Amino acid sequence: MPLKMWLFPLVCVRPDCGKHRLTAAGIYRTVRKVLDIDGWYDLATEYLECKRCKKKYPAWNEDILGQLDLGHRSQFPALLTYRYSCDNRVVWMMRERTLDNSVTQLYKKLMEQHSEAWTQRILQYLTACEPFTRSSFVQPPVFAEPPLLPALPKPKWLLAVYARDVLGRLDEVKAKITSVFGCVLKMDSTKKPPRDMHWTPGSWPDETPPRQERHPQK
Ligand SMILES: [Zn+2]
Repeated sequence: MPLKMWLFPLVCVRPDCGKHRLTAAGIYRTVRKVLDIDGWYDLATEYLECKRCKKKYPAWNEDILGQLDLGHRSQFPALLTYRYSCDNRVVWMMRERTLDNSVTQLYKKLMEQHSEAWTQRILQYLTACEPFTRSSFVQPPVFAEPPLLPALPKPKWLLAVYARDVLGRLDEVKAKITSVFGCVLKMDSTKKPPRDMHWTPGSWPDETPPRQERHPQK
């Protein structure tokens, strides 16, 4: 809630409005379900309105998040997709792309952590119910069944989230590649292809085709 909590100066992104300041318009009615490492949590946000063009923005809209400075932007906890949302900590786990660290592997890890946390919560619930059952001999109270373990999204969805994360950091990723491997790329780009390499028209735009060696006839 950047406006309510920090009084962050946010503006309308429509060019006609000339960066008109947004005002608070209550709480956004949709609540997002966010996948965390060991469970799910709900994410709510505020609603912002431009009084000039009457356009309304939920504060998790990219147009709003893009106006925050890095410090405030980093406090937004999740990556939102159409149906579910994914907590940043799960996204970071996917960035460690090493051998045996596929999305299927991550899915299995999440399933294990979710099951473990769910079992603990059920145990706490039953423990809290128990004294009431023991104290009433005549008609013991009836408690609601504990909720089932919510299903996890499939590995394919995790992969889609990872792709969105990479797309969002594309400039950063490009900068890293050129800064770490820049000298190697430069060295490599000045190399001429060997003469005996197979040549087809158009494959080397700046090169003339390698001349055929003529062997003297014996
Ligand atoms: Zn506007």
